Amino acid sequence: MFRSIPCSHPGCNKYAVEDHYTCLEHSRDPEKIMFVIDKALSDRHSHRDMLITDALFTDRDFSSTHVNMCNFARCTFKNVDFSRSVINSTFFDFCLFENCNFTENDSRHTVVAGSTMINCNFTDSIMIHTNFMGIEGRGCDFSTSDLYYSTFCNAYLSDTNFIDCNLKNTDFRYTTRHNVSFKYSNYEEALF
Ligand SMILES: [Zn+2]
Repeated sequence: MFRSIPCSHPGCNKYAVEDHYTCLEHSRDPEKIMFVIDKALSDRHSHRDMLITDALFTDRDFSSTHVNMCNFARCTFKNVDFSRSVINSTFFDFCLFENCNFTENDSRHTVVAGSTMINCNFTDSIMIHTNFMGIEGRGCDFSTSDLYYSTFCNAYLSDTNFIDCNLKNTDFRYTTRHNVSFKYSNYEEALF
């Protein structure tokens, strides 16, 4: 598991970036940190225990990336390709995802709670036991995915599709939904 070491900057309550003494904001060389992180997420090897919060990732190819037990809380991802990625037990809480591609991803026990997702594609994926609690999802597509035991509790969902999904024990309680389709899915086995 990633190590939650506080940033050494006085008064800062963020966690230090993995292998550093400070958070990204208080680093002397944030460009170098981002270069190393970008390189790691692009190299298609398996990574674990990475920790970087509050970072901005734009126009990146992280397809087939493989991460375990990492923490990317409050990061912003714009036009990022996560297709065919493997993401296990990793935290993306309170992130912003805009125009991101997660097609054919395999994510388990992962947390994206409180995140905003705009025009993101999650089709043909396995996202089981994953925590989407309280997300704001607009224009997203989860179709033909396995969402077994994942929770969308308290989410706000608009113009979003769950067509032909496995929704066994998927939790949609207390959600607000506008123009959401569950066509061809086993929604009778989900919780509403
Ligand atoms: Zn700091």
